[in-house]
Amino acid sequence: MPEGPEIRRAADRISKRLVGQEIEAIQLHYPPIQEFQQVVAESQVSSISTRGKAMLTRFDCGLTMYSHNQLYGRWTVNRRSTELNWGRALRAEFLTEGYAVRLWSATDVEMIPSSDEESHPFISRLGPDVLDESCTPEVIMEMLDGKRHRNRKASSLMLDQSFLAGVGNYLRSEILHQSGVNPHAKPKDLSEDRRRAWAEEAKRLCVMSYQTGGLTVPKEVAEKGKERGERRRSYRHAVFCRNGLPCLSCGTEVVREVIGGRRLDFCPSCQRTET
Ligand SMILES: [Zn+2]
Repeated sequence: MPEGPEIRRAADRISKRLVGQEIEAIQLHYPPIQEFQQVVAESQVSSISTRGKAMLTRFDCGLTMYSHNQLYGRWTVNRRSTELNWGRALRAEFLTEGYAVRLWSATDVEMIPSSDEESHPFISRLGPDVLDESCTPEVIMEMLDGKRHRNRKASSLMLDQSFLAGVGNYLRSEILHQSGVNPHAKPKDLSEDRRRAWAEEAKRLCVMSYQTGGLTVPKEVAEKGKERGERRRSYRHAVFCRNGLPCLSCGTEVVREVIGGRRLDFCPSCQRTET
């Protein structure tokens, strides 16, 4: 599933083609939102933003299209002349003079009044968006120390969108590894330095992934992994999808655990249980 950084990059690509551009046609193909076709067809896109893994496409008629791609949804941006025959179900299409922006296959798509965004059932439960400027390491540190979170396991806290919106599976493994936090540890069991490292790495790695298109290691490190013949999904990260390979920091074999059906990769030495 795409995580916050990937959704925000998609929003950037789409914004570039739609916001402030003359949109010639908007077609809503998905039955749950089709009743808004007429009003939306006469509108322009005024802004696009993300909240965690959700995207909010705002129209100047006062409506917002809420979409969450889950596993299958995809946004595409193509020249209008490019034909796409890939068997996916088209949900919404935006045509400008030169470009076609399309949303495919997503099933979690709704049209809501822009003024009601904050009370949307998914949005209202979200914690701070980790990519938002206001979500600083200090804010994350305060949350780790707060009553609601201090007694929860790192592995489940990191996927809880009401804690930090936008962190998903690969970022979870990477953040915990880079900060030396054992997946089974709870914030209350960790030293202040360790919690601070956790908060700082959460912010740093999400921003890095957003800026680099999904890398959570420096480019040189990824390139060395590529030269060693590692798979793409392994050399782009420090531990995620590196199970069975040596940890890049200490050489210990990276271990995979499957928790609640989601894989978590970690280094038993770098992320030793701390008391
Ligand atoms: Zn290690």
